[in-house]
Amino acid sequence: MSMTIDAPSETAASPLGGPSLPQRRELVTSIPGPKSEALMARKQAAVSAGVGTMMPVYAVAAGGGVIVDVDGNSLIDLGSGIAVTNVGNADPHVTAAVIEQVQRFTHTCFTITPYDGYVEVAEALNRLTPGDHAKRTALFNSGAEAVENAIKVARYYTGKSAVVAFDHGYHGRTNLTMGLTAKAMPYKAGFGPFAPDIYRAPMSYPYRDGLSGAEAAARAIHMMDRQIGADRIAAIIIEPIQGEGGFVVPAEGFLPALQAWANANNVVFIADEVQTGFARTGQMFASEHEGVVPDLITMAKGIAGGLPLAAVTGRAEMMDAVHAGGLGGTYGGNPIATAAALGALKAYDEHDLLARAVELEAIIRDELTTLQARDGRIGDIRGRGAMMAIELTDAEGKPDAALTAKVAKHCHLEGVVVLTCGTDGNVIRLLPPLSISDELLREGIRVIGEALAAN
Ligand SMILES: *Cc1c(COP(=O)(O)O)cnc(C)c1O
Repeated sequence: MSMTIDAPSETAASPLGGPSLPQRRELVTSIPGPKSEALMARKQAAVSAGVGTMMPVYAVAAGGGVIVDVDGNSLIDLGSGIAVTNVGNADPHVTAAVIEQVQRFTHTCFTITPYDGYVEVAEALNRLTPGDHAKRTALFNSGAEAVENAIKVARYYTGKSAVVAFDHGYHGRTNLTMGLTAKAMPYKAGFGPFAPDIYRAPMSYPYRDGLSGAEAAARAIHMMDRQIGADRIAAIIIEPIQGEGGFVVPAEGFLPALQAWANANNVVFIADEVQTGFARTGQMFASEHEGVVPDLITMAKGIAGGLPLAAVTGRAEMMDAVHAGGLGGTYGGNPIATAAALGALKAYDEHDLLARAVELEAIIRDELTTLQARDGRIGDIRGRGAMMAIELTDAEGKPDAALTAKVAKHCHLEGVVVLTCGTDGNVIRLLPPLSISDELLREGIRVIGEALAAN
């Protein structure tokens, strides 16, 4: 007996994603439209309330710089699914690699019967990450899992246990990474107790603390020396530009000073480049802007064009210190995800996306500077490449989370996907796919300007 499955009619009528999708903002219903509303009702009845959604619209296709929803609305994408689809949605290099692999085999488990795609991704990351020392790589499924494993390696290698993270830092939602993450709501509240021996050092936040990089580093190092002691610290972990914490770019010299202190004290310097990696900031990795060479680097988000993959790449003597079987997992470095990563790496190269990120920064700075001249509530414009943000303040210069929420909501209703962030919830971040057109990007920022003017 054969069984046929009828595709739902809205799926059958859906456009294909990828770069050939019409590149325009077009609203044909209110946001959300009726089909999205019906799906939201089903979600409420079926999906845990703990899994929130920022916008109540359901995607059916995406590519270039747009996301098309189930009601036929075409939205400008300034989020890239949180800095994931740097190469764009459904990039042909990625889809071709995935289709080819999914037809050959879908899983054997690399730790049982390995396959070459895993090794090829490791070779590529060893080549592409900062520094020309000998490196090794291990692959995982998510950013949080990469962070967990970097900490495991650092503790094993040094024989020490304390770990230092920074104010405003975000490193994930598993137990260890919640402990490393700074912000209570929504990431940690009610989920403790957290793993022990984690400490938080002051971050360099030039807009708020006015310190030079050297001064901010001295403050953090003083705290680590006096409150913990270098002889107990296995690792410091830091995002070269903070993501969820507010796109905080530390003052020049802060990261190199921390790296030098770590190197001098047998402390493993871990750069969490889960959000900043893969051409996002105009370099392959944000550490490169100041010539920082991390001992270990954690990667995920932009690595595989949207498929779940993560990595730790680091000094060979650290990564090879661990006994066989100490690192791994059932799915880590899944063959479809590694094929997608190899496709994405081709796309970064062939579309020259490093240069594109630099061009996008120029456009974003141009538009945001014009906005700021009209609106003093834009306290700060910061970021690098296609990772830029505005920090919104009230008349007294205090963080204005209410205004930020209203501006984001206005953008959503007008068909522009923008994300907020920041410990005080007062930062609007721009993370467009590097495949977005100049016109769509400018239009998206124009809508942010209209939202500010209306609020
Ligand atoms: C998103 C993020 C993580 C966690 O990655 P997941 O894939 O969501 O587990 C860790 N670190 C940083 C800097 C991130 O932005």
